[in-house]
Formats: sequence, C-alpha cells, structure tokens
Amino acid sequence: MDQFRHILVGWLLDGSGGPVRRRVLMKLSKAMVISLAEARLGDFKESCVEDLGSFTVLPGLVDAHVHLALSGTEDGGEREAQRKASFESSSTRIRDHLREHIRHGVVAVRDGGDKDGHALLYKHRVLAKNPSPVAVQAAGQGWHASGRYGNLIGASPQPEETLAQAVSRRGAEKDFVKIVNSGLNSLTCFGAETAPQFALEELVEAVKKAHGLGKKVMVHANGRIPVGSAVEAGCDSIEHGFFMGRENLDKMAERQTVWIPTVFTMAAYAEKLAGGSRESEVAKRNLDHQLNQIRLARSLGVPVGVGTDSGSLGVHHGRAFCKELQLLMTAGFTLEEAVQSATARGAVLLGVEDHTGMLAPGRPATFVAVRGGPERLMEGLKAPQGVVVKGEVVDGGKDFLSQRRRGSKEEFRQN
Ligand SMILES: [Zn+2]
Repeated sequence: MDQFRHILVGWLLDGSGGPVRRRVLMKLSKAMVISLAEARLGDFKESCVEDLGSFTVLPGLVDAHVHLALSGTEDGGEREAQRKASFESSSTRIRDHLREHIRHGVVAVRDGGDKDGHALLYKHRVLAKNPSPVAVQAAGQGWHASGRYGNLIGASPQPEETLAQAVSRRGAEKDFVKIVNSGLNSLTCFGAETAPQFALEELVEAVKKAHGLGKKVMVHANGRIPVGSAVEAGCDSIEHGFFMGRENLDKMAERQTVWIPTVFTMAAYAEKLAGGSRESEVAKRNLDHQLNQIRLARSLGVPVGVGTDSGSLGVHHGRAFCKELQLLMTAGFTLEEAVQSATARGAVLLGVEDHTGMLAPGRPATFVAVRGGPERLMEGLKAPQGVVVKGEVVDGGKDFLSQRRRGSKEEFRQN
C-alpha cells in the first residue's frame, strides 16, 4: 500500500505570490507536502488519485487580527454584556468563533486582546487539552495608557510601573505583546488624529523588553505620530494605520514592518451607521483614504497582512475574511498577491509555519479548496468546499476528498 496520497489540483495558488499553476499533482505524506508537479496522464494509472481537478486550492488562511471573545454583533446591550462576561461565557463564544473561522478556511488567528485576557486564558486552559484545528496566537490583555482608549481590549500599567515593566509582567505566558498607541478613528471629523499614548522612549524600552522575552509586538496606531513612533521603536506590526501617511509607509517598506490595515472595519461602519448620516459619510471617506494608502503600500513594497478585526461592530468572525481580501484587490492587489498576504505572510508574522503557510515541498499540507477556477475564488471563499489541516479534513465532511477518487482519469482527459 502506497504511503503517499496524490491529489489532482485544478488550479493552485501556493501563497508565494507567484502565478496560478494549472493542473498540479500534489503528493502528500501524512501531514506534509512532498511534491507539487505538473500533472501528466501517466499519473492516473493508479486509481487512488484524489480529485480536486475542478477546484482552486490555496494555503490555509491566516487572520492576523481578531478578538475572539467579542462578536460582531450590532446590539449595544449584547456588546456591553460581552465586555463584562465571565470566562465561562466567553469560552462558549470563543469556541463558536473558532468554528466560524474553520468553516471559512481560516486556520490561524492572532488575537489582539480583550479586557480580561479571556482568549489567551482559553488557549491555556481549553486548547492546551483539546487543540483546535485553528492555531491561536494571543496577546491576552493589550496595554494602553491610563485614561486613554483601550480598556475594551486590555489594561493600563500600574501607576508606578513603566510600560516595559508592565510588558514583562506575565509576558512569558503571552504569544504576542499588544500595545495601543492612539485612539480610534473619528467618525465625525475626517482625518482627525489623536495624540500618541506613549512616548517614543517608553515604546523603545517596551519593544526591547518584549523582544528579549522572544515576543513580537503588535501596535494599534492611527495617525502620523502614533504610527511613526511605533515603527521607530521597532514594533513588528502596525494594526489599522489609518492616516499614517507616506513617510511612515516609506519607513515600513525600508524596515519591512508588517501592516495589517483592517480596512473592512470602515466598510462595515459605513454600512451599519445610518445611511446619509455624518458618521456614515466620514466612514466612507476613511475607507477610501485607507484604500489609497494600501495602493501606495503595495507600490512601495510594504508587507501587508490580512486582519479583519473581527469582534468589531459589524465585523463577523470567519465571514469577514474574504471581504478584507476583496478590499486588498480593490486597492490594486493581484489575486496572487492578495492570497500571499492572506496566507504565507500571515503565517510568518504569527510564527505558525509548522501549521500553515506556503504550499511547497516540506511544508504542512494545510489548504482550502474552493470549487471553480481562480476567477471565482473570492466568491467561493464565502463558503469553501473543504479545509484540510496537516493532511486531515477539518471541514467539508469526512467524505470530502475520499468521494472524489473516482473519475479522475476521465476528468483529466476532458481537459
Ligand atoms: Zn482590534
């Protein structure tokens, strides 16, 4: 009995940013890709080729910015209740959100924090015993300055404590360090910037401390100065980055600081807020401005990742991913580039390359299959037909792949 599996793939996007490959024979050994070669008729002598000949296959998706303990609900009372929820009640929600991610092909998420650090606790208490097919990297509580924006997603350092000291407190338990260095975007005054929450020196010390613990730093920052000091301090990724301006994008390209634009949040606001209202109009302008920044980032070579900010108003776990991806394409990304941002780039940022990432020999057999050719991919990602994590079908039913063993040869000849 052959220890390898062979899968005929109609169209392959490997996550490298390279062009779509047509008719590829993917050879797998348990959890790993062995080879990806052009399919030939001789490959079908054996009947055990599994048939994804009419599917587009891409690596498992990575959502680099979510809040698992919060949902995208628009019900104000419910949002308030989620903020104050017990760990038990958050746990149920987190479990459901992880299921939604899997259903949409998202196999790794980075959690940007919640008030009581429930997502991180869930990882340690629940996932440690019952692993999910979704790799979770969590920041626990994010750090914000006392009296400034951020208590929804974290805490502030103690009065006598520096930011760096706060970062080192229980820092070892966290996968990431999250720092909040600006306010939210104004929905009444277009382009209004907020002051940075921390001084450059504080950020430099905090980043140094985090890196010393082996942790990357993600910084929530909008506006020129808050983004500028975070980049200068050596953070690993800028979250949101609305109105950061050309100079910061230049600097990020030079330093290869990853940008997670979370642009769909603004589209969701524009849609959810009363049509024709000032807030809705400002949200639309914010959206256009951010799309232009993304266009510029692409031309400058800033590494852009995909993060939805799921848990934000109107931004739903799983479902939001293809919307964020679509917006990158609206801003000029090719399909191949968008998929690279959504997969390999996210996997490197999150440090989960043993779980998902580029599809290549020696890499994990983690992929999403969507019916039809690449031109239908964006539509198809709303409901992928199958999701495979390290060689195991985790969505699409246990018959996904196995039912498709017959007819490969016929199908091959037709094409
Ligand atoms: Zn967030």
